[in-house]
Amino acid sequence: MSPEASTLADGKRRASEHGRANSVSTVSALIADDSRVFDLSHPWFQGMPAAPNRVPYVFTMVLRHGDRPRDDGVSAANELVVLSGHTGTHLDALGHVSRGGLLHGGIPVSGIEAPAGGIRELGVETVPPILCRGVLLDVAATRHVDCLPPAYEVTSDDLEAAEARLDTPVRPGDGVLIRTGWGRYWPDPQEYQAGTNGWPGPGPAAAEWLIRRRIIIAGSDTPPFEVVRPDRNVRPVHGRLLVDAGIYILESLSLDQLGAADVTTAFVLVALPLKLVGATGSPVRPVAIVPGSAPPALDGPLHATTS
Ligand SMILES: [Zn+2]
Repeated sequence: MSPEASTLADGKRRASEHGRANSVSTVSALIADDSRVFDLSHPWFQGMPAAPNRVPYVFTMVLRHGDRPRDDGVSAANELVVLSGHTGTHLDALGHVSRGGLLHGGIPVSGIEAPAGGIRELGVETVPPILCRGVLLDVAATRHVDCLPPAYEVTSDDLEAAEARLDTPVRPGDGVLIRTGWGRYWPDPQEYQAGTNGWPGPGPAAAEWLIRRRIIIAGSDTPPFEVVRPDRNVRPVHGRLLVDAGIYILESLSLDQLGAADVTTAFVLVALPLKLVGATGSPVRPVAIVPGSAPPALDGPLHATTS
């Protein structure tokens, strides 16, 4: 059955399967005593890169220490934070993108969204805790550049070449992180986010490659994940991954440390979106737990359990 022909029940079943797709036994063999933890998120702060069509990140302290001291001298401070579900490092839920009025599994968008409640189907609160085997496909390194040029289309050949650098091929149930090098522009919010000349990223052929590998989540270090050309207002890769294949997307990852460490082993990928009911995305702080100098055998029974 083609993805487009899948039914509403199919969509819900597949969404729930994601909840069973990751088991601790799948990934625990990858955690060694000397594992290293890589933080894959950028910090959130006022003035950080934000898409022009989304609310900017707003932070204000609403209670300072000493404003309401308790009898024992203890006082608490807190803040108000305003942001989009797609600000900074974040996860796209399946409900983020529709095509022709339909979400993943053929769910019609008409009638399921409201300004106050968000979307009633496939919101980010339905995303399970992501705990899976992960790999880094460092396309920038494969092509011997610090950063792929704007609007560069990562092809299936690029992914194959990056995979060839790994100690292990991509497997079903994996999380695949694609490094373009775009993270080098993070300190310059204008340059990072403007995309005046587009962004590099996977194109349609690369999307098909990812879908064939039956991964559960893909991510990259750019704001839009997929290749964007300034003269083309399309998002075919989002359509294929989110709508057709039910593959989650991570955007604006911080991947340069993984790249600098030349991580070619599989690692444990942890990404925990907030349960923001009705939201189409959530800020997330993913980490990669990378086997250290004595990595465990990777040829063991490491596979995604789907039943
Ligand atoms: Zn997004």
